[in-house]
Amino acid sequence: MYPAPFEYTRAESLAHALELMGEHGDEARPLAGGMSLLPLLKLRLARPAWLVDIGRLDELAGIADEDGALGIGALTRHVTVAGDAAIRDRYPMVHDAISTVGDPQVRNQGTTGGSMSHADPAGNWGPVSLAIGARMLCRSVRGERWVEAADFYVDAYTTALAPDEILARVELPAFGGSGAYLALRRRVGDFALASVAVQLTLDAQGACGAVGIGLGAVGLTPIKAAEAETAMRGNAITDELVGEAAELVYGAADPLEDVHGPVEYRRSAVRALFKRAVGIAVRRHGGEAVEMIA
Ligand code: FAD
Repeated sequence: MYPAPFEYTRAESLAHALELMGEHGDEARPLAGGMSLLPLLKLRLARPAWLVDIGRLDELAGIADEDGALGIGALTRHVTVAGDAAIRDRYPMVHDAISTVGDPQVRNQGTTGGSMSHADPAGNWGPVSLAIGARMLCRSVRGERWVEAADFYVDAYTTALAPDEILARVELPAFGGSGAYLALRRRVGDFALASVAVQLTLDAQGACGAVGIGLGAVGLTPIKAAEAETAMRGNAITDELVGEAAELVYGAADPLEDVHGPVEYRRSAVRALFKRAVGIAVRRHGGEAVEMIA
């Protein structure tokens, strides 16, 4: 199908893009990599009157150390995130997740900000940003504000971004420790049927310090498994503790039944993935290089 008619402007700078978004508000949509928006236009599931192309704004791309935290520009392509040495070393969970987004074409074209703004419940960035406690810099002609990941994902395909706002940058805090992201997919390149992101720190005695757990594809939004985090925090990582936390993860999952399987299937999958992800995070914390297979 062909998209409904729309006006198109290639923004020359972020300031220009914000001006256009401010002017056209509800009627406008930013166009980044186009991996999700173009199919929506062609299917006429989205009919914006104006496309503001931000796809060539270099000022929105790149990864930078920001006093220990890591800033990722919204236009940073998945391929860049997946290949970044600092991300691989400091946030292996993010590397696991982003190096397995879709296929090489999607990773070459798709962007961090586009992925987060699209807010697909099965998207890889959702659980990761919740587990790590990322925050998003939202900008408009009215100014800028930071939104915590926990407040960013409002509903399926819906975020806290106002109609005139552009997601400019994402900040990953200096969480420390290690982590892992695991997903269940029918085939390589498919969206996840269930996914788990875990980031944790351990003290010298093996007790869990800080911990973040995000679940994907088991609800209308990515889910922060807060009760499981509380159960783990301050306690030694034993099979018993992980089993107990896994039951809380199972309880936090709230999937819908679909063609891929019943509710019970996804909840059981996320429980099993969680146990494996904790095991990998602990091994990585101990210095073991555990590579994921896409
Ligand atoms: P676009 O398609 O350009 O935009 C998507 C939406 O976000 C639009 O509504 C647009 O207006 C808005 N937007 C874009 N940038 C901004 C911004 N900076 N601020 C505000 N709004 C913005 N994703 C996964 O996570 N896991 C997968 O396994 C996966 N598999 C895929 C397989 C295929 C075949 C395809 C086509 C996509 C897949 N994706 C997957 C989605 C992919 O990650 C896309 O890159 C992403 O969803 C959108 O990024 P984009 O830059 O292409 O955004």
